[in-house]
Amino acid sequence: MNRWRDLYCGELRPNDVGRTATVAGWVARRRDHGGLIFIDLRDHTGIVQLVVNPERAPAAAEAAHAIRSEFVVRAVGEVVARAPEAVNSNIATGEVEIQVDQLELVARSEPLPFQLDDDNVEEPLRLRYRYLDLRRDRMQRNLRLSHTVVAAIRRSMEEQAFIDIWTPTMTLGTPEGARDFLVPVRLQPGTFFALAQSPQLFKQTFMIGGLDRYYQIATCWRDEDLRADRQFEFRQLDLELAFPRRDDVMDVLERVVVASFEAVGRTPPERPFPRLSYAEAMLRYGSDKPDTRFGLEIQDATEVTRGSEFGVFKSAERVRFLVAPKVFSRAELQRLEEFAKEWGAKGLAYLVVEESGEVRSPIAKFLSEDELAAFAAPPGSTILFAADTQAMVERVLGVLRSELGRQLGLIDEAQDDLLWVIDFPLFLRDEDTGQWTFVHHPFTSPLDGHEDLIESDPGGALSQHYDLIWNGWELGSGSIRVHRQEVQERVFRAMGMTDEEAHAKFGWFLEALQMGAPPHGGFALGIERFVALFAGEANIREIIAFPKTASGSDPLTGSPAPTTQERLSELGIRLANPEVEIGR
Ligand code: ASP
Repeated sequence: MNRWRDLYCGELRPNDVGRTATVAGWVARRRDHGGLIFIDLRDHTGIVQLVVNPERAPAAAEAAHAIRSEFVVRAVGEVVARAPEAVNSNIATGEVEIQVDQLELVARSEPLPFQLDDDNVEEPLRLRYRYLDLRRDRMQRNLRLSHTVVAAIRRSMEEQAFIDIWTPTMTLGTPEGARDFLVPVRLQPGTFFALAQSPQLFKQTFMIGGLDRYYQIATCWRDEDLRADRQFEFRQLDLELAFPRRDDVMDVLERVVVASFEAVGRTPPERPFPRLSYAEAMLRYGSDKPDTRFGLEIQDATEVTRGSEFGVFKSAERVRFLVAPKVFSRAELQRLEEFAKEWGAKGLAYLVVEESGEVRSPIAKFLSEDELAAFAAPPGSTILFAADTQAMVERVLGVLRSELGRQLGLIDEAQDDLLWVIDFPLFLRDEDTGQWTFVHHPFTSPLDGHEDLIESDPGGALSQHYDLIWNGWELGSGSIRVHRQEVQERVFRAMGMTDEEAHAKFGWFLEALQMGAPPHGGFALGIERFVALFAGEANIREIIAFPKTASGSDPLTGSPAPTTQERLSELGIRLANPEVEIGR
């Protein structure tokens, strides 16, 4: 390599014995054995043990005394085999060590704010000193894994004849269901760019522009509350193709997923991935991103309870239940009820079927033979009911199912379930405004034959939107798009937009749709979420080099930060509360 090093720390093996090696890296540990000094030297490939013997190398021993954790050093010495009892099988280089002849102190380190081998460091401290955190195995592994996955994605996309085209960051608002970040414009005070929530309209425009197959690892910006799987900025594999059928888009993604699994050495799922309609997913799993690695499926009992003497069942829009393979105690049932109430349930009716077959429940006396027969469950189980509106029943039983899957250890962590959820509704009612609003985004095409429902029965119209799910996580969404201007205008109208509003917001695009727009469709896959699942990390912050904290700041650089009065004036901005917000 060069004067700093001629091989990496983690590379030394018994067949290097006898050679002279030059290595450089960080001091992970230094042990002074009153004479011999042992140094664990680390770089990105691993650790090698240096032995400094004052008799062999007095100057090196002198230097070694001053060395502390995380100093950067360079060492030259002879590779020797360790005595059998000194072999360290925990590290790849454990059969050898370097007898040091020269030791050069390259850079010192201040005492550290936390020890690198301490796994309980609070996140704000990790992020404040991210460069130290990055030296640790976990971040090294995650960022390298992320690279491996992104490289595999790119290879697969190139093989599938997609071309990588850049789209602007600063644009007009794109309706992806979040708030836009706004960028004030000095040259036109009072106007703002929005940071793209996704390249949605640009990629559709590529199809109108005849580019046929576009992809990009695109950064997206969304101003929303941050959670374990949300950041202000994140990346998507964004793609679009012309003249596709829904199956073609799915096939592209399945190839990308399989290539990624192969690249990280994990057994890939079989293609084609199973498909589940939205209606079936909501009925059986109470979720549009079901974890199908365990059963515990929801069953419907609306019909059989119509004449029930149990008033709650009789009057509810929907009655559904699931059967848990456990006899729950009263205290456990109370906890489950509290959990259900947190999600909006009014209560949680239950039937416990003891091991003896005896049924224990305050509601049993109200239930008819037919009802009890319909709820038949094996001895040693508990039937849990939700009776409410359909949306509430789905929500409550869906979260209850996931919770019980975890609590009862029903999930086979070694299994990988990838599946498509298809046939989503085109519109849902916005709970706050009562308006019809899009489920995916307003550019999603209705299912063939459902165009007329846009006006006559918006709630009944299904769309060509599809989601890709992995073990209960949504990896991404896509759709076949509306490519006829007239249909696009009708969708906007159904959402309560006047033609003037639609033209003010999307006029340029509606115009483009009138000039030879081919049928097209695409998808976006969340890179960080995808990699987090490979890494077994619950939080996407572990996959991002410099993430924002839950409150939306970066402790390393201290951003976001106030600006000066001068900058604000240039931008034509006056703060509502200047004392607090300037020069904090
Ligand atoms: N732009 C969409 C999203 O970010 C994906 C797509 O429809 O291609 O979810």
